[in-house]
Amino acid sequence: MKHVKLNFQEKVKDFMTKNPFAIEKGENIKHAIDLMTSNRVGSVIIVDKDFKPINILTRSDILKLIFLGYTQVKVEDALKILKKDKKKLYVVKEDDLISECLELFIYKNIKHLPVVNKEGKLVGVISATDIIKKVSYLIFIDNLTGLGNRHYLESLKAKLNRFYKNISFGVLMIDIDNFKKLNDTYGHLFGDKVIRKVSKAILRNIRIVDEAIRYGGEEFLVILFKVNKEALLKIAEKIRKDVEKIKFRSHPEVKVTVSIGATLCKNGCELEKCIEKADKALKIAKETGKNKVVFI
Ligand code: GH3
Ligand code: MG
Ligand code: MG
Repeated sequence: MKHVKLNFQEKVKDFMTKNPFAIEKGENIKHAIDLMTSNRVGSVIIVDKDFKPINILTRSDILKLIFLGYTQVKVEDALKILKKDKKKLYVVKEDDLISECLELFIYKNIKHLPVVNKEGKLVGVISATDIIKKVSYLIFIDNLTGLGNRHYLESLKAKLNRFYKNISFGVLMIDIDNFKKLNDTYGHLFGDKVIRKVSKAILRNIRIVDEAIRYGGEEFLVILFKVNKEALLKIAEKIRKDVEKIKFRSHPEVKVTVSIGATLCKNGCELEKCIEKADKALKIAKETGKNKVVFI
């Protein structure tokens, strides 16, 4: 998963759809209908000769025109029929904050906004749906590490139970050793850095199909698909060794290690049960000296 966070200070250009469909007012409305139906877009922007937006046609505008039987008129006439020819067109700049779009969406009841660059030329379009999509994705992300969070784990559990009942996978429960001491000695911000570096070490050693989740403060859950015991332990060992190599320029004396509990889940066993087993294995790793992998 990619690392993204939302504080409404993001710029419009990070959310907008680039290269929106644009037509000129002299063209036939049929062209706009074609663009919309064949590309499944929610809006077509009307631009002038300099590619500056002057109006917008949305799906409901098109629906109205079809309903009224105006499917062959010029765009400029269509705008008159829709009584949109004199209406103010709201636009946003690509460097504007996303919060400004939100205000327009909410208080002006707008669903699509043309996005312009510094010269006022059309560069994109942003819709309320674009924002909703991104926000719903962000719900599943831990913003310190960019890994999946517990919400994500819940959705994963549901998915595994529903669609992948009979697959086998390996589970690793990874916990940073003596982390409290690091936190107490070097401060919370440094602790956060440690957590980020460990999560990167984990990501480096798993495949794109595998899952890495921040399970707790300094605990990570890794799910590896289609592995046998040998492969599972090999990956766990690689992660453990990679973490040992973590260095901090500001504090070269700091050594980071992790303990790992590993278990295999054969066809049909529940993720929840595997997590419990991996947790038990982790506990043994902690009690028998830390910085090691224990398999149950
Ligand atoms: P062990 O080797 O047995 O795992 O000991 P530990 O010190 O790593 O474990 P313990 O559970 O005692 O301490 C974990 C600490 O992690 C306590 C908590 O303050 C800290 N912590 C939890 N979440 C965060 C976080 O997001 N950032 C930072 N900096 N610290 C966190
Ligand atoms: Mg710990
Ligand atoms: Mg812990």
